[in-house]
Amino acid sequence: MKYIKIDKKDWPSGLDKASESYRLFGPQREEEFHSFKELEKGVEPDLSCLNTRLSPKSLIYPQSEAMMEYTLDQSQDDHHIMKEVKKDYAPQAVIGIRPCDAKAFILVQKNFDTPDYKDPYWIRAYESTTFVGLACNSPCSSCFCTTAGCGPFHEEGLDLLLLDAEDHYLAKSLTQKGDAFLNAAGWDAEVEEDRVGQQIESAKQAAEEKITSFVNTDKLRGIDTNELYKAPFWEEVAFSCINCGTCTYVCPTCWCFDIQDENHGNSGCRMRNWDSCMFPLFTLHGSGHNPRDTKIHRVRQRFMHKLKYYVDKYENGIQCVGCGRCVRLCPVNIDIRRVCELMNNYGAVKDACAV
Ligand code: SF4
Ligand code: SF4
Repeated sequence: MKYIKIDKKDWPSGLDKASESYRLFGPQREEEFHSFKELEKGVEPDLSCLNTRLSPKSLIYPQSEAMMEYTLDQSQDDHHIMKEVKKDYAPQAVIGIRPCDAKAFILVQKNFDTPDYKDPYWIRAYESTTFVGLACNSPCSSCFCTTAGCGPFHEEGLDLLLLDAEDHYLAKSLTQKGDAFLNAAGWDAEVEEDRVGQQIESAKQAAEEKITSFVNTDKLRGIDTNELYKAPFWEEVAFSCINCGTCTYVCPTCWCFDIQDENHGNSGCRMRNWDSCMFPLFTLHGSGHNPRDTKIHRVRQRFMHKLKYYVDKYENGIQCVGCGRCVRLCPVNIDIRRVCELMNNYGAVKDACAV
């Protein structure tokens, strides 16, 4: 692990140099919000944004992705053969990713890269990416990362962590990928940990103290799954939901997808598209039966998956990093922090009712 001081006057030239070895992505302003986009030559990431509206998950797991293709055109040598679509997995770097969004990939990895099942598309994209994180000096009021297994200076999933220190950045290199990125950018002004360790620790404490939003998750594992499934509060939680799917699409830890074959005359492709447990079609069977045919079923599934099934299956905390996007963007103000409180307290409430 090493610490590098990057003068802000050397930032654009370093990015320019790094772009010779990496495709660079970073937050860019789009009307009233920011999105992660590929940086054109000479364009810097806009690191003034608190966070992007959509998480950067699409850089590893695109919203629509061609997996396989075929042609029936007999003039082609490979007609009638289903072939994997060629993709570019050249090195890429995501500049200014927030610690919560980088940690989210670690949670998602439990689905895409397991001993039994390996998703080649996700794994290749993830392995070819360097994550250059930006510590959050001023978290949003709806962030609750510190109680969701993360934090404004959390390092898990990052290769480099940048601290904005007015006229310079302090870069903490966490992996070999981080070292390689620093080399490619030509940033090599190493500083001793003794000189900057206290500065980083103070900034971290100050940032954590600004987070006033939280969730309690300590009792989730101990609650009986069937009892929680049958809890009476689901009707009230789901009442206002319009099943728009916004919460799942903006979430860095939601991973559900659908696979569709698209045929165009003599050729076609197999596409993978993001899907959402909030959509009625998500579980509609070919027979016409739908095991989650009401919105109560669908809303319950989303929260049970994130806050109970994932917790029990992986023993890795909740399937949420506390980025607050779903809290900010749900059009009817359904708030995962409140639902988590209802779920976490359910055993105690039930016991009190029984006395
Ligand atoms: S964003 Fe809100 S209204 Fe839309 S599906 Fe999610 S919980 Fe329901
Ligand atoms: S559930 Fe909400 S707060 Fe948690 S990671 Fe997803 S969008 Fe962020």
